[in-house]
Amino acid sequence: MEVIILGSGVYSGIPKPLCNCENCSRARKFHSYRRTRFSIYIPKIRTLIDPSPDLHYHLEHINDKIEHVFITHAHFDHIGGLPELQIFKHIKLYGHGTTLEVAKDMQKRFVGESRWNWEYFPLEFDTWYDFGFKVYHFRVAHQPIEVAGGFVIQIRDKRIVITGDTGPEILDDSTTLEEIKGADLLVADMTHKHSIPKAHLGVDDAIKLAQIVNAKKTVFAHISHTNYTHEVLEDMVRPYIVARDFMHVHI
Ligand SMILES: [Zn+2]
Ligand SMILES: [Zn+2]
Ligand SMILES: [Zn+2]
Repeated sequence: MEVIILGSGVYSGIPKPLCNCENCSRARKFHSYRRTRFSIYIPKIRTLIDPSPDLHYHLEHINDKIEHVFITHAHFDHIGGLPELQIFKHIKLYGHGTTLEVAKDMQKRFVGESRWNWEYFPLEFDTWYDFGFKVYHFRVAHQPIEVAGGFVIQIRDKRIVITGDTGPEILDDSTTLEEIKGADLLVADMTHKHSIPKAHLGVDDAIKLAQIVNAKKTVFAHISHTNYTHEVLEDMVRPYIVARDFMHVHI
């Protein structure tokens, strides 16, 4: 099975407009270093995780009929592309009730309601659901937003874990760690060089999480321009993988 990292970057993307740091300068020169905003696609179940503001560009790549949309939290880099989904008349959206309220409001304001049959499935934290594939939504610490979470998506015997944006508190969350241990794929936050409590993981804590989870494959994503360069990160995290835009991961 294939999982596509559509966007590997943080909210500002790389290059960040007006920034001349090493990562941003390189990305302007060499497009392979660009990072669009975080998003993932699982072709087998036509499932998008986080409609990023770069969704229009991502849709060109996947060119597929999306059926399911998961939203980790309502920060604009994870939900801002939702109106781009207007080309799909029937989709099912999943996330915490608080997150889905934002999605519903965006549908109402930017897309319309009468001709779009979009169904909303609010998920409680720490509960397994069966939609033909299994889903578990776990809470993460990610201030200042009130409600943010990650997902475990199980398709037959394959388990995919996506942390979304998370602070290092996930390392002490034994309930969540029990559910995500031994996954086939872990896609984890590695935004900065150093962790920011209740916000994002740094390199060391991302590696710690990968070691605890011990997934068959681990990919680090949601990478900021302020982080190390791609090659330095690769050396630091090996054997784990540093995401690039449009990376296809086989599990
Ligand atoms: Zn984010
Ligand atoms: Zn920069
Ligand atoms: Zn966020």
